[in-house]
Amino acid sequence: MIIKLKQQSPHKQIEHLTNWLTRQKFRVHLSEGEFETILGVIGDTSALDVHAIEGLEIVEQVIRISEPFKAVNRKFHPVDSVMTAGGAQIGGGHFALIAGPCSVESYEQIMEVARAVKAAGATMLRGGAFKPRTSPYDFQGLKAEGLELLRQAKAETGLPIVSEIMNINHLDLFNDVDIIQVGARNMQNFDLLRELGRARQPVLLKRGLANTIKELLMSAEYVLAGGNPNVILCERGIRTFETYTRNTLDISAVPVLKELSHLPVVVDPSHACGIARHVPALSLAAVAAGADGLMIEVHNTPEKALSDGAQSLRPSQFEALARQVRRVREAVQP
Ligand code: PEP
Ligand code: MN
Repeated sequence: MIIKLKQQSPHKQIEHLTNWLTRQKFRVHLSEGEFETILGVIGDTSALDVHAIEGLEIVEQVIRISEPFKAVNRKFHPVDSVMTAGGAQIGGGHFALIAGPCSVESYEQIMEVARAVKAAGATMLRGGAFKPRTSPYDFQGLKAEGLELLRQAKAETGLPIVSEIMNINHLDLFNDVDIIQVGARNMQNFDLLRELGRARQPVLLKRGLANTIKELLMSAEYVLAGGNPNVILCERGIRTFETYTRNTLDISAVPVLKELSHLPVVVDPSHACGIARHVPALSLAAVAAGADGLMIEVHNTPEKALSDGAQSLRPSQFEALARQVRRVREAVQP
């Protein structure tokens, strides 16, 4: 349930109402925007008398919400959430261009890519250290050493870093990681999500291969309910009957997610199609559709990459794409 309060309601009365609700075991989420103040009431509100609450002096309107997701719901929080990671911002008009290799492979590789993407205009550096691979015989990532190499790349370039966590026992290793990624395969690892509610960094939550938009939002809800308000949603393609591309980019997820939720939405066109030459077209489509950011795989020598080489752009291709992204962003500016 959403309780919209009248402007300039006295704090004492807001507190009084909040206490009355919490005494009845509801969780109350206060959102104070520039123009409106909203109380989000979480719990089974079916027994609450809407008319009695509407009768209170400070209440403008009471809205029952039917969606099962609450804290991530835009109705709870009408303004876009803006997240800060290592000095960079995302959401509410701040665009994030996240680029880097699928996997961190060596000092030389991550440094070369980091310098190149920074020069091209990337705002954050990605790199996998713990890799969720379909085959146990494939490269599994450099693990803690990979995170250390990312830290060194951050120290040199100043780019905030994004890396995937697979096991909550590794959380300490992620202390200096600016954004913690939850991969598509872990989107419904509820224990992991709940624990990430205790992390202080934003979580970049990727949509599962076969998950609906509602399921993605419910997973984000776990992190917010656990106490971390900073989740970035990521559309990275879903599995369909199509075989020409690795997955199918669900571009409609961008406006739908932005309508339903206040959280920033990032698109990963690399995993969505799996083919480097199609990454630019999908990137531009995502930007035009209103994405708050892109996450793009870039490798200095894609033909030698230890993972996802076929979908990785060369630095020069990324540079050309970054220029086009800026032009499309300007073109679609309201
Ligand atoms: C990745 O970002 O390298 C990755 C494994 O992504 P996804 O979880 O979307 O497959
Ligand atoms: Mn990858």
